[in-house]
Amino acid sequence: MMLRSLVVFLTAAVAFAQAPAPTSGRRVHRLLIHNATVVDGNGTPAAGPKDIVIEDNKIVDVIARDPVALSRSAPPGIGNHAGVPSGSAPPDAVIDATGKYVLPGLINAHAHLQEERGGKPQPIEYELDIWLACGITTVRDVGSDTRRALELRRMSAEGQIAAPRIFVYPMFGRPKTVEAARAHVRELKAVGADGIKILGIDRDTMEAMEDDAHKLGLRIAHHAGVEETNAWDDIRFGTTSIEHWYGIPDAAIEDGVQHFPSTYNYNNETDRFRYAGHLFREANPERLTKVLEAMVKANVAWDPTMDIYEASRDLQRAQTQPWFAEYLHPTLEEYFKPNPANHGSYFIGWTSTDETSWKENYRLWGAALRQFDGLGGLIGMGDDAGFIYQMYGFGLIRGMELHQEAGFHPIRIIEQATGNNAKILGQEDKLGRVRAGWTADLIVVNGNPLENLKVLYPTGVDEVRNGQTVHTGGVEWTIKDGIPYHAPELFAKVKQMVAEARKSAR
Ligand SMILES: [Zn+2]
Repeated sequence: MMLRSLVVFLTAAVAFAQAPAPTSGRRVHRLLIHNATVVDGNGTPAAGPKDIVIEDNKIVDVIARDPVALSRSAPPGIGNHAGVPSGSAPPDAVIDATGKYVLPGLINAHAHLQEERGGKPQPIEYELDIWLACGITTVRDVGSDTRRALELRRMSAEGQIAAPRIFVYPMFGRPKTVEAARAHVRELKAVGADGIKILGIDRDTMEAMEDDAHKLGLRIAHHAGVEETNAWDDIRFGTTSIEHWYGIPDAAIEDGVQHFPSTYNYNNETDRFRYAGHLFREANPERLTKVLEAMVKANVAWDPTMDIYEASRDLQRAQTQPWFAEYLHPTLEEYFKPNPANHGSYFIGWTSTDETSWKENYRLWGAALRQFDGLGGLIGMGDDAGFIYQMYGFGLIRGMELHQEAGFHPIRIIEQATGNNAKILGQEDKLGRVRAGWTADLIVVNGNPLENLKVLYPTGVDEVRNGQTVHTGGVEWTIKDGIPYHAPELFAKVKQMVAEARKSAR
């Protein structure tokens, strides 16, 4: 039986080799990813080799090709069971994933579609291409130009532009009355929003808008600042996900208010970011546990966006990231420069004392995330890039690294960036898995992200093999909605776009 399976296996392998590699940006009817090691988005270990069969925009089969699986799936008397579903046509294109890892497409749960920074234009393709090159197949836009975001969502869904799929959560603003809050929820539903992002909202209008949003099936992402509301309100009103972190330790402070100096002004960003670095330390651990437990019970997820605060704990690292050399658009570069008029440019006069406070804050933040996870809480992943030295896509991968530093196993981190984010979006039956019946959003990675998350960076990694330095890594193929994009080609396009923009900026 083993021998018979092997013969069928080899025959099938020859047939696969005859189909061509896909053309970037062009969907074929039947695409095969051959011989992959798969890390699924459900927290299970890597497994392979597997063949993944895609028809149009759906995964139709995931077939184990290891000898044990082959022998199991070839009962005597039934032929052609060694991987190729009986009666199925040969593939139109094949991606040879030998030695590569296949993951669900990454989901960025905290993104902002940006076509300008500081009032200067920046081509949308810059952001979209980097996202795809970083393996991001879905973004949740939590605040941008809503009309434009809805248009881009449609164009992406129709395959008119190379872009991740887009979920639009417009920024809610600050309604003056409960009635206005309810009316605004209905307006956003009517224009086709997928959810709502709230920030700086009053408690009564938050309660009203969440009530209406739940009735209309709109999910809520809450950037909980140090404001009137905190995690207890999210727990009471049924927020889908808390973005960032402030409202969580803030809900666990002994005196009900942080020990700010008398000169503190919340609208001074230097004050705000400096004393934010003390916040986790001021939370009472027992109270924090109660907050985390209540979040779990109320199904409030946590999307911590750890990358976006990294400048606070290591400014020099944030300012000198290697991909800035060739991939930082001059518009974004200008926006990142210290300027009190730009949000996030608080680091003028940032001190070693501030960095030390923030390192401790990260340690306690990571511990709180691990505790939340241990209690059964749902943790997502988003990068909030385009601010504070974080580049689109790169920020998400950096966030994954920071979760590793917090103590999460890379298998869990991949789950957070795929399956968990799909749950936050309410799309867990379609996205975030390498599973038959799910949407064909997948990435093929040059290297093992479980060993080194840095292999996900499109700039790649260097390895020593047989005494030679070999440049490797990066996502090879990003498949979104069944459309294969050759990531290095997109990334080369980004490089050219940046070079040209720099030339004309000079
Ligand atoms: Zn944001």
